[in-house]
Amino acid sequence: MKFHIICTVDHEVFGNGSGCVDRCVVAPMDRCLAEMDRHKAILTFFVDAPEFSAMRMAGGRCAEDAAQVEAQLADAANGGHKVQLHLHSQWLGAERADGHWRLDFSRWRIGDLARDEIMSLTESGIEYLRAVAGSDSSHLCTFRAGGWAIQPARETLVALSAHGVTMDSTVAPGCYHSARGDWYDFRHCPDAPWWPISDDVCRVADAASLIEVPIATAAMGRVEHARALREHRSHPSLPEGCEGSYEGPNSRLQSLMGKVGKVLRMGRVMLDFSTMPSWMLIGICEDYRRRYRDVPGPVPIVAIGHGKNFTAHSEANLSEWLSWVDQQADMKYSDFYQWHSTWRAER
Ligand SMILES: [Zn+2]
Repeated sequence: MKFHIICTVDHEVFGNGSGCVDRCVVAPMDRCLAEMDRHKAILTFFVDAPEFSAMRMAGGRCAEDAAQVEAQLADAANGGHKVQLHLHSQWLGAERADGHWRLDFSRWRIGDLARDEIMSLTESGIEYLRAVAGSDSSHLCTFRAGGWAIQPARETLVALSAHGVTMDSTVAPGCYHSARGDWYDFRHCPDAPWWPISDDVCRVADAASLIEVPIATAAMGRVEHARALREHRSHPSLPEGCEGSYEGPNSRLQSLMGKVGKVLRMGRVMLDFSTMPSWMLIGICEDYRRRYRDVPGPVPIVAIGHGKNFTAHSEANLSEWLSWVDQQADMKYSDFYQWHSTWRAER
């Protein structure tokens, strides 16, 4: 089959540690999993290992929360879904005080950390996921940076490679966020569905250590994008009972500038099944098919979602989009390991 649809979610609470694990993570993902199972689709969880291991170590109610997430993941992995590595480095040295998490916002971007910090984060993250995913952990091969903040990527890619990770799925081609504390810049990427990398996620490497398998994006136009956002905003933006805040590492002015930048860059959209209407998800897939049908071998189409904004409205749109995928003769549901194995076998 030509196109491998790889559905992924970043499995986490909010970036500042707020949000109830049950209502912002576990419950919405149960509903998402049920929808995936109805369509025999595979869901890949990018699990924020540092946060759930911090919860486990905090004991009490937090450890119960972590246990709930771990049980869900073990169950999902048993049912054929996948667990991969996600790292939000602001959880390094996280402290629990007065019922809230105190995170280190100066460590928001993994790309800004020192080599030994990245090494130990990666090592403990992989160890945690091996314990959680059990026998499925032989397929632990893919990474996504928290907040897309992998650049400059050299040290992170060295650490991943040293720990047996062969693919990165952080890049969202064409997307750009300028706020100082959580910037990323994917404006100048190869026009391809995947590419070999060594020390820069946006540059094709001759001697590659990893493969970049980007999140699918498309230029859908400002009018269409605005229409999709209007549709999204006419429904509740958080799952039932979930409360949390998008507070991050920026000052008010920096976040305001970041928001202004986002408006200026309207039109470039990610294949995001939590926030996009089904007609947009279908449009992005059709655009991808047009652009990459002549690329040799199987082509990955990576979709992204988040439990903390997976609402009843997202569920309805996901269902419509997956029903459309079911009808496409050249598309199948897949995961990173399966796509890569097929690609190697066909080479
Ligand atoms: Zn994340």
